[in-house]
Amino acid sequence: MGAPGSGKGTQSAMLASRLGISAISTGEILREAAKAQDPQGERLRQIMTSGALVDDATVCDVVASRIRGMVTGSGGLILDGFPRTVAQARKLDRVLQSLGMSRPLVVHLDVPNEVILERISRRRQCAKCGAIFTIASGSLELNRCDADGGSLLQRDDDNEAVVLKRLAAYEAETVPVLDYYRRHAESSADYRRIDGCLSAAEIAKGVCDIASFAGAPLAA
Ligand code: AMP
Repeated sequence: MGAPGSGKGTQSAMLASRLGISAISTGEILREAAKAQDPQGERLRQIMTSGALVDDATVCDVVASRIRGMVTGSGGLILDGFPRTVAQARKLDRVLQSLGMSRPLVVHLDVPNEVILERISRRRQCAKCGAIFTIASGSLELNRCDADGGSLLQRDDDNEAVVLKRLAAYEAETVPVLDYYRRHAESSADYRRIDGCLSAAEIAKGVCDIASFAGAPLAA
């Protein structure tokens, strides 16, 4: 968990490959669904480009069915960008319980807002594989993806006006989820905070240490 631009997508991809397990990004799923040329696609586009959160019912439907489909027999699952409201956290508790799964390990990437704003202005994503890059400060050049040469694009919702609204949604709706997990740390979740201003490699090491301490099998 963490604010927009805190590094959730980058860390989720690194951890998925390190642990050899799947990751679900609700942002990616919703961005894909928002491409549909139908009323649902149009509704999602409007919400997401405004910087607001998508309603709990839509998000929970998508995530619950994916968790049920992916989790059986696997060594776990990484959730990137979910839960983002207390209602979603409660829904997750119920889904995990119904599947007989253990409580979630919540990793909070903590980054101050001024760092988020600067970082997001430099964030680009590969149009082909979705890999996330941070371009050099002041560079106007859009480079190409290291992995497949795809063009690096800026997300529609990564401009300053929308990021400020996304940060406001984070403060109003998602910070209470962190409180929910901190309060319930003994019962429904294990909560850990990481300084999200460290380098991506340092954070990845911290996340892996936490995951392996919690019993996740680390792939070689
Ligand atoms: P992200 O890629 O995680 O930054 O998410 C991009 C956008 O997708 C957010 O600004 C929300 O509009 C929407 N979104 C992603 N995950 C959720 C969620 N769990 N609940 C509600 N909206 C979400």
